[in-house]
Amino acid sequence: MKQLPVKKNEIYDVEITSITHNGLGVGKIDNFPIFIKNALPGESISVKVIVVKKNFAVGRVIEIYQENEFRVKPKCSIYKDCGGCNLQHLSYLGQLKIKKDLVKEQFKRIGKLDVEVNDCIGMENSFGYRNKTQVPFGTVNNKIVAGFYKENTHEIIDMPGCDIQDEIMDNIISYMKKIAVKYEIIPYNEELNIGNLRHVIVRKGYITNEYMITLVTKDNDITNYEKIVNDLITEFPMIKSIIQNINPSKTNTILGDKQRILYGEEYIFDFIGDVKFAISSRSFYQVNPVQTKKLYDIILEYAKLTGQETIIDAYCGIGTIGLYLSKQAKAIYGVEIVPDAIKDAKLNARLNNFSNAHYEEGKAEEVIKKWQKENINPDIIIVDPPRKGCDKTFLDTVINMKIPKFIYVSCDPATLARDINTLSAHYNILEIQPVDMFPQTMHVETVVLMSRV
Ligand code: SAH
Repeated sequence: MKQLPVKKNEIYDVEITSITHNGLGVGKIDNFPIFIKNALPGESISVKVIVVKKNFAVGRVIEIYQENEFRVKPKCSIYKDCGGCNLQHLSYLGQLKIKKDLVKEQFKRIGKLDVEVNDCIGMENSFGYRNKTQVPFGTVNNKIVAGFYKENTHEIIDMPGCDIQDEIMDNIISYMKKIAVKYEIIPYNEELNIGNLRHVIVRKGYITNEYMITLVTKDNDITNYEKIVNDLITEFPMIKSIIQNINPSKTNTILGDKQRILYGEEYIFDFIGDVKFAISSRSFYQVNPVQTKKLYDIILEYAKLTGQETIIDAYCGIGTIGLYLSKQAKAIYGVEIVPDAIKDAKLNARLNNFSNAHYEEGKAEEVIKKWQKENINPDIIIVDPPRKGCDKTFLDTVINMKIPKFIYVSCDPATLARDINTLSAHYNILEIQPVDMFPQTMHVETVVLMSRV
């Protein structure tokens, strides 16, 4: 076997040249890549090698000789163990800069395009932004704990609170721990497959201040559930809905198929701008309401609507993007693969009295072909696909349909760059705008405006 340039447990000096999508610093020892947690581009460090594989190594920082100018002390006390955030050791300004660079870099490397990228749009308060949390419950040394799984394990670490989420959510979770003790609810034990309470999920309507609690249990029943509900709504009157979700399986998946309402309605409500949305316990809804409004305003600005436009909203979820534009457009055609989301999108259209929005359940790549046959000639197509990006046949159909304007919203710069490369012979790139939907993490959302060549 070929001799590798690094050895386990040895210490090396290395320069960090880039950062991965999950926040690891990357350096090279004799051209052999090494990934290092808590190391930032521009830093020179000494590193101890802890894992060696055929093509890469993993190391731990021993000493930082030269710090990145934006390095800061992480705010959160559990940052090191949690893994939910991975950029808290960088100032917010530094985070925005690194996200812009990442987008530019992916366009160059994967998209083979040397492009201008706008500055990443950040938010005033880069903590406390999340409107949703899902917390596993467990027992450690006979004490009920609720927190997060220690990185790469299934060990639950008790959490006093989470700095990137709404504070009332922290209070509700702490209170649920007390309730579990008071009414002797036994948290679920994954290994033994015993106990009942698995997860507590809290969602918030940002504008309406309505809260929804979902209690995920193994069993059909929760003893004393009426008392639990009563305690919860007395302590937190902003709770408008309590749902029980039943998940009897030995699985990592959080939600099960069966649900029942314990209190209030099936939905809570929220507004983005002046458009109202019903949110159910299962539906996808952006987790950063402040930045979502900014993101949608950029889409609106790029769309330049006159009231005459027909718009396709592909991968539409519960219809948020299309409905945000609907008042200023002629017609919206939304497509989405999850049946419940389509049901919610239709409900949301009715809720706002928008009769010009039409929804179709199915794969975007199939439904768009149907629309092509039906001669729906859209002026604008907006896509917001999951991380894996758009299907190739979908993009080919869009190219075929000669849609004049293309707005691509993406949560993964790598697949975005790949797809834009596919489109680049047919579409000119006019703007590339990163928006920071997930401060303190490496995630970045990007909007690309393109016009037909
Ligand atoms: N635009 C929405 C949701 C974006 S998330 C919003 O801003 O809230 C991406 C959505 O794409 C998810 O709702 C997912 O269910 C859906 N999806 C995934 N693959 C799909 C496919 N092949 N066709 C249509 N929708 C798909």
